[in-house]
Amino acid sequence: MPDAPSALTLDTKDAGATTAFRPSPSGPKPRWSRVVLKLSGEAFADPLGAPIDGDIVARIASEIIDVQSELKVQLAIVVGGGNIWRGQTGAAAEGIDRTTSDYMGMLGTVINALALQDALERQGQPTRTQTAIQMSQIAEPYIRRRAMRHLEKGRVVIFACGNGNPYFTTDTTAALRAAEIEAEAILKGTHTTDGVYDADPRTNPQAKRYEQVGYAEVLSKNLRVMDLTAISFCMDNNLPIVVFNMMQKGNIRAVLLGDPPIGTLVS
Ligand code: UDP
Repeated sequence: MPDAPSALTLDTKDAGATTAFRPSPSGPKPRWSRVVLKLSGEAFADPLGAPIDGDIVARIASEIIDVQSELKVQLAIVVGGGNIWRGQTGAAAEGIDRTTSDYMGMLGTVINALALQDALERQGQPTRTQTAIQMSQIAEPYIRRRAMRHLEKGRVVIFACGNGNPYFTTDTTAALRAAEIEAEAILKGTHTTDGVYDADPRTNPQAKRYEQVGYAEVLSKNLRVMDLTAISFCMDNNLPIVVFNMMQKGNIRAVLLGDPPIGTLVS
């Protein structure tokens, strides 16, 4: 009797998907052909406090599908888990061991990844979730070459569990995975701001948004873009980051087309 298919068995249900998923020479010209989109967990939450709002997740999924299908940009997504649990905050507030608390945070990212995968697939987009901590009943394990193959076939890939290690964040994971899968840029979608400012725009009305800023300036001024480990990793590996407002419809597409420029490019 043949073995039951495992999470490691290659799926054939969308085997007809193109094997060269690339922007068409005659269509709109995206700035990059493979990117990592970093979504904070809070992007999934509803304003009244529920950790996951189905309508919001469906809206994010439809924007992702729009850039996949129209711009033919290969999209890998790193999901955060801050809407469910943050290791450091949880450890401090509840007295939980920090490493354990970080594992709880990593499990939170899996919940978000499954919600997003479900929303994408319900709208017809083939999607694979890969986890940095193995949970083969739920998702594939993270395998770099396999992730790249999925992208080439036009599947969306979601990376969950961060990089699998405590004391890290999903921002750093986005940088690491982007370098590993040879993505050309990181799109950091936020729900709180539309870019990087020279001061806090909530308290300083004179604060100015940068259209472009260097890694060194972000580090020296401690501008709140991503955590500093992620920024220095991007600097060392020459990975551009665009920080933009995820809550405004059409912004993923706008960032990829770059015209008019939105958000802040860190490079
Ligand atoms: N985390 C971790 N290692 C990783 C990524 C995440 O330990 O590689 C844990 C950490 O506790 C973190 C939580 O998962 O607070 C949720 O991730 P993050 O804070 O990056 O989520 P976001 O702020 O993007 O929603």
